[in-house]
Amino acid sequence: MVVGDASLDIDTLVIGAGPGGYTAAIRAAQLGQKVLVVDKEKVGGVCLNVGCIPSKALISAAHQYESISHASEIGIDAGKVKVDFSKVQDFKNGVVKKLTGGVASLLKANKVDFFNGEVMFINENEARVFNDQESPRYRFKNCIIATGSRPIELKPFPFGGRIISSTEALSLPEVPKSMIVVGGGYIGIELGQMYSKFGTKVTVVEGLDSILPGFDAEMSKLVEKKLKGQGVEIFTGAKANSAEQSDKDVTLSFTVGDEEKQLTADYLLVTVGRRPNTDGELGLDLIDIKMNERGFIEVDDQGRTSIPHIYAIGDIVAGPALAHKSSYEAKVAAESIAGLPSKIDYKCIPLVVFSDPECASVGYSENEAKEKGHNVKIGRFPFNINGRALSLNATEGYVKIVSDADNGLVLGAQIVGLEASNLIAELGLAIEMGATVEDIALTIHAHPTLGEIPMEAAEVALGHPIHTFIKK
Ligand code: FAD
Repeated sequence: MVVGDASLDIDTLVIGAGPGGYTAAIRAAQLGQKVLVVDKEKVGGVCLNVGCIPSKALISAAHQYESISHASEIGIDAGKVKVDFSKVQDFKNGVVKKLTGGVASLLKANKVDFFNGEVMFINENEARVFNDQESPRYRFKNCIIATGSRPIELKPFPFGGRIISSTEALSLPEVPKSMIVVGGGYIGIELGQMYSKFGTKVTVVEGLDSILPGFDAEMSKLVEKKLKGQGVEIFTGAKANSAEQSDKDVTLSFTVGDEEKQLTADYLLVTVGRRPNTDGELGLDLIDIKMNERGFIEVDDQGRTSIPHIYAIGDIVAGPALAHKSSYEAKVAAESIAGLPSKIDYKCIPLVVFSDPECASVGYSENEAKEKGHNVKIGRFPFNINGRALSLNATEGYVKIVSDADNGLVLGAQIVGLEASNLIAELGLAIEMGATVEDIALTIHAHPTLGEIPMEAAEVALGHPIHTFIKK
């Protein structure tokens, strides 16, 4: 209850309740802070509501549909398999509801106050939070800004109608007959492949020379091969120029080399990156916080901005826009506020694409390790001679471990194949712990599991694998 317009006192104001904000709020509360977290939308941010979680629920449904449809390959004839897309959407919405409800309960259990509204800075120590009903002002000792990002909207392709962003693509009422995806990064490929599995004719238009830039070319080639096998058309080195839409479809004009092309589809999904939410009503200009020319807030290795009691984390600071990067930075910022010596170390952020096959990478790639001056030793083992992969009928892919030949230290790893998203965790831990390839090779991995593939890749690096022959 606010009397007049006096400021209420809190220890820590957290702006945004995405994976960065809610994690920061919970960690700060665990460390004894009186915390208020504010979000103008729903608890969970982009990740839980319109990002990681709903996309993975739909991807998993599409994958199951594909597996059942092709089960005759392993002797199971499921007859004609049908998709009820509104039920698929219900399943996805249920997953989102469960997780966002869980986060709301966790905030409550940790005695974190939540305000559903927008934040506007008044000065370096006070902010007003407001919604349709109320607009109290707070005086804070510390603040953590975690306002996230939004899809980049290109001028020729304003969102609306048949031109959609990832947000709308996650909630289409039915499986479209056709879709053009502008942008072959991880979001475009994940969503495009998901719809393709459900039966949509998908075309990807990417400006660079390959899809999934940032991953080894060999990895993106495997995904590209699978996509093409599914009937997805891919134009690389292509420039999307303009679009015209009607009530029922949209036509994209684009150029590949010297050739002008036009394509018409039910939807045009534009996924060309995300923009940090550091503009607009938040009022960062009022407190003169230091930002770079692309709108990212500058921070030190504890997440502290140019104003020492204000921190920034997640998609609004430089680095990959990923939920686990946000929540990692969140814990460091909250601990720094509590006076702990935590520091950010980006050596080990896993990058994962939930494509089919999945791609995952952590630490250095082979080229990066060479550029850093390491005497590189590669250990590589394919899925198609691993018993578990064969019995799962998932033989595409490999595990590649990048190590230092002089001391055996694991420097990085790249995995493409089933469960790459989970398998990469062991290699991340190896890097984090300063483990060698010998440590991985000497660790007993259960048989038969996909987990044996990294172990065998480590044995390859050591020169004595059991299940593959290396000619000396
Ligand atoms: P956000 O999650 O964006 O949360 C910011 C919150 O701040 C929002 O809820 C917003 O409403 C609120 N806010 C903004 N301004 C204000 C204000 N002035 N006042 C009050 N509240 C405000 N990442 C992964 O790691 N793995 C994945 O598989 C993955 N898949 C993705 C799939 C899609 C389709 C998309 C779009 C993204 C995906 N991401 C994934 C990225 C991930 O969602 C983001 O990196 C992550 O959500 C960033 O977390 P954050 O806490 O920094 O910000």
